[in-house]
Amino acid sequence: MDWNKLVKKRQEMIVNNTQDFLQIKSVLDEATASSYAPFGEGIRKAYNWLLHKAEKDGFTVKDLDGKAAHIEWGEGEELVGVLCHIDVVPEGEGWTTPAFDADIRNGKIYARGALDDKGPTMAAYHALKLLKDKGVKLEKRVRLIIGTDEESQWRCVSHYFDHEEMPSLGFAPDADFPIIYAEKGIADLTYKLDLWEEQGLIRSFSSGSRLNMVPDFASAVINKKELDADFQLKEIYKNYLAQIQAEGGVEEDSDTVLLTFSGRSAHGMEPEDGLNAGLYLADFLCTMPLKEYEKRFFYTLNDYFLNDSRGKKAGVNYMHKELGDLTINIGTIKFEGGNTSSIGINLRYPDGVIFNSVKQRLDRIFTSTGFTGSIISHAPPHAVNKDHQLVRTLSKVYESQTSSKADLIAIGGGTYARSLKAGVAFGPLFPGQKDVVHQADEYIDIDNLVKITAMYAEAIYELCNQQ
Ligand SMILES: [Zn+2]
Repeated sequence: MDWNKLVKKRQEMIVNNTQDFLQIKSVLDEATASSYAPFGEGIRKAYNWLLHKAEKDGFTVKDLDGKAAHIEWGEGEELVGVLCHIDVVPEGEGWTTPAFDADIRNGKIYARGALDDKGPTMAAYHALKLLKDKGVKLEKRVRLIIGTDEESQWRCVSHYFDHEEMPSLGFAPDADFPIIYAEKGIADLTYKLDLWEEQGLIRSFSSGSRLNMVPDFASAVINKKELDADFQLKEIYKNYLAQIQAEGGVEEDSDTVLLTFSGRSAHGMEPEDGLNAGLYLADFLCTMPLKEYEKRFFYTLNDYFLNDSRGKKAGVNYMHKELGDLTINIGTIKFEGGNTSSIGINLRYPDGVIFNSVKQRLDRIFTSTGFTGSIISHAPPHAVNKDHQLVRTLSKVYESQTSSKADLIAIGGGTYARSLKAGVAFGPLFPGQKDVVHQADEYIDIDNLVKITAMYAEAIYELCNQQ
């Protein structure tokens, strides 16, 4: 079957539907949340739009309390899952045309959600519709599983799988081609230190607001009266910045000095891509006459984490040839005299690492200086065997449609595929394409929308008709 040709004939319908769907602002909105619309009215509106359409098109549809749904087709014992989500992140600033206009320019549809994940959801939907309309027999059942809270807490899929069967295999069109078969374990940890009330040298210190980002900015307020009169703070700091070729600032008033450091932001899955403003400013503070309790806080950062995203100094490093390194991102540092101070860590580790031993090792480092630790969240590594039928079938489909090799990818991030037991991420971004997810002027190329619809149609067909 020439899948591309079949989809091409439906291009206008697919583009129109995608535009309509993208024009619904499906952003999480707790203010309008209710039992009818658990994640707010916008998401419920997009959800209704899709479910009504699927009913009208003759699919079996099941709504699970407005949190998640499936659209089913095919017959048989076994179940194949295609996991999509219809919630989007807020539009943010800097759009050429409004983010929910779904304007078309130069063959691209511009809208929040075009690529993540309402465009690909439409592609998967039209892939299934094509098979249905053509009367293609499927030997298994297929479900498009529709999530509504992927961008926040995944309350959708957890509700769904509490009540519905787990597909024996499936894919999520919510990341990259060719195939993401392995994802690291991800844990958010926080270590707190209760400081006693005392006016110290550091009045406050702050860096970062999200654990999974490398902080690009840090600031510290220094109490001037704790410094010797001849301490040349401004000069010493300027020298420090020059030495590491970084930007920063010094602002003085009558009794404090504000130091700022500008680093470089990056996703927490690869801290080396960024420059951690918090760790560097903390490093500078360690050259100053700190009080004992301040030393406990800042020396810990310096001794174990500065310039070491692989956890070597902490003794937790682990390297997996294919799956990559264990990584540690110090996402947040908060130090406020008199209050609880904290260090927030985003830890990512490949299969083969025993999470509890890493946690214990970090606990030992922190508790030795008086911190207490807790786990905010933890998801173990996810992987599908490279010889699994799912991987072999999708590789074949990818290779036949693109004429390029389906290299298997392991990543540090977490994709939606990990909520399936045997699940991989399969598209929508092709190698070398610009990743505009969560950015201003997010778009999907119409040619690509057609291409991925054809890819998903063949993938569903092959997964359902192979033993
Ligand atoms: Zn997504």
